[in-house]
Amino acid sequence: MNQTQTSKQAPTGLNAYLRLLSYVRPYWPAFILSVLGYALYAASSTAFAQVMKLLVDSIQDGMTEKRLFFPLLVVGIFALRGVGTFFGTYFMTYVARQLIHYLRLDLFKRFLVLPAGFYDKHSSGHLVSRLTFNVEQVTGAATNAITVLVREGLFVVGLMGYLLWVNWKLALVFVAVSPVIGLVVSYASKRFRRLSHRIQNSMGDVTHVASETLQGYRVVRSFGGTEFEYQRFLKASEYNRAQAMKMALTKAINTPVVQTIVAIALGILVWLALSPDLMGEMTPGEFIAFLTAASLMAKPLRQLTEINNTIQQGLAAAMDVFTYLDAPEEEDKGTKTLERAQGEVSFKKVSFQYAQDKPLALNQVNFTAKPGEMIALVGRSGGGKSTLANLIPRFYNATQGEIQLDGLPITELTLASLREQIALVTQQVTLFNDTLAANIAYGIKDPDPKAIEAAAKAAFVMDFAEKLPEGLNTLVGDNGVLLSGGQRQRIAIARAIMKDAPILILDEATSALDTESERFIQQALEEVMQGRTSFVIAHRLSTIEQADRILVIDQGQIVEEGNHQELLALNGAYAQLHQLQFHEQIQPEHE
Ligand code: ADP
Ligand code: MG
Repeated sequence: MNQTQTSKQAPTGLNAYLRLLSYVRPYWPAFILSVLGYALYAASSTAFAQVMKLLVDSIQDGMTEKRLFFPLLVVGIFALRGVGTFFGTYFMTYVARQLIHYLRLDLFKRFLVLPAGFYDKHSSGHLVSRLTFNVEQVTGAATNAITVLVREGLFVVGLMGYLLWVNWKLALVFVAVSPVIGLVVSYASKRFRRLSHRIQNSMGDVTHVASETLQGYRVVRSFGGTEFEYQRFLKASEYNRAQAMKMALTKAINTPVVQTIVAIALGILVWLALSPDLMGEMTPGEFIAFLTAASLMAKPLRQLTEINNTIQQGLAAAMDVFTYLDAPEEEDKGTKTLERAQGEVSFKKVSFQYAQDKPLALNQVNFTAKPGEMIALVGRSGGGKSTLANLIPRFYNATQGEIQLDGLPITELTLASLREQIALVTQQVTLFNDTLAANIAYGIKDPDPKAIEAAAKAAFVMDFAEKLPEGLNTLVGDNGVLLSGGQRQRIAIARAIMKDAPILILDEATSALDTESERFIQQALEEVMQGRTSFVIAHRLSTIEQADRILVIDQGQIVEEGNHQELLALNGAYAQLHQLQFHEQIQPEHE
């Protein structure tokens, strides 16, 4: 379930720390202010032990004139501590929030440039879970945990300094037990991190199963999949729970163990301090101060061990986020740009494989589409038609051979410039939860409402938009759920018309339309195709009969090539396909 993540080369914890720190760098003034604040907090907390010493000493001396001095001192110290806490907390949170914000932005930015191959391998549920859950876990580490780490860490350092100053020989007891504490904490840290990785991945599984089930609820219900999905979800959630419990167990054991070690150290300390030799050496004030400081040590040490798991969680999450940030982005090495292409597209012995261990999806494909030509791609499903279409906007790069646009290898163009030349309509229409008009003009800055309306008319969107209460300004719902399949396709076609690009790719763009609408749109498209190079993949052969050239694709190869009449005369694969469909169509639809 989680092998994809754990098998990845994980960066080390230290690297992750340093890399997180690099996010902090721009905010170093705030970071310094915060550390100074916490230093003030630590110093004033430590000073409390010294106050005890002064108090006991002055009680012994019987000095009563300091009666006002002590209360003022205590209030003063607490006031300083308050100021320190304010600066520490406020500025640390500021830095942490910036960190999270930019980490999240970087991750999202990376998602925007990752290649199609990446999306083939990762489910959207897992990716969304990275943006929400993982980044949030880093937040926990970066805000609360870092705060405790700096504040209590400085406090421990302050107390240690004070102990060493008052009586370094006694203080050595603490120095002696620190490696033991270190061992316990580092063992727990490793375990926390391992468990955190598992918890985060299982959150990905939870999101994945949930989003699949929610999106496909119709299939789930109608195919009796509710129990199956419930079990799948149960398994993912249960695994998550079990790992979280292991984490809780480690945490629950860890803190008392460290506390016990500290208690043993304190015990030894008191025992040593009570020895007659040492008693003589110290004033009662020093003695009390020493014990106060030593016992003050227990609380920050406990807090430090307690937040360790949050820190490790955050670190594990950060390491995971970094592996995504390091995933190679879409190759975009081209430097040339085109204003508006003529539209000559040629495939020069292009072969393509989705992966090394996969068969060739395209095998030595060779053809040239002249500007303005309409090229139809037909053939059995799985033949490689969509693959061919996907290579033109470089969603994938040819494994062998070269694709040229206006005689220029498309790899020499910037991706942005290449894609600007292409309008693409696929079978799977993506609509954004916005108005019809906004969906048609997607990607266009300040679109002309007249142009939107013209595109909507041409694609017969107006046909149904006119009947909607707000026309083109009607919201389409989440991924256009409020529309029929055919209506969605018309919007996608209108979007392509609106883009007005020299190359048009229609990958089964009219498959969801009924025969009548298809015929209408066919006319519209024929007009749109004028002056553009178009690639039309269609299942219904009737729609591509007028193509300048028809390429019959099978098993990644062009097996036949020619116009409708030529191919029929050839009496080969195309003629056979045609024959089949002719029979299919003639009966149910009386055509
Ligand atoms: P067509 O559009 O002609 O139906 P495709 O181009 O979609 O065919 O598929 C051609 C071959 O490539 C099929 O064998 C298919 O399984 C495979 N294929 C398609 N997309 C991917 C992908 N993203 N990853 C791996 N293999 C794929
Ligand atoms: Mg296809």
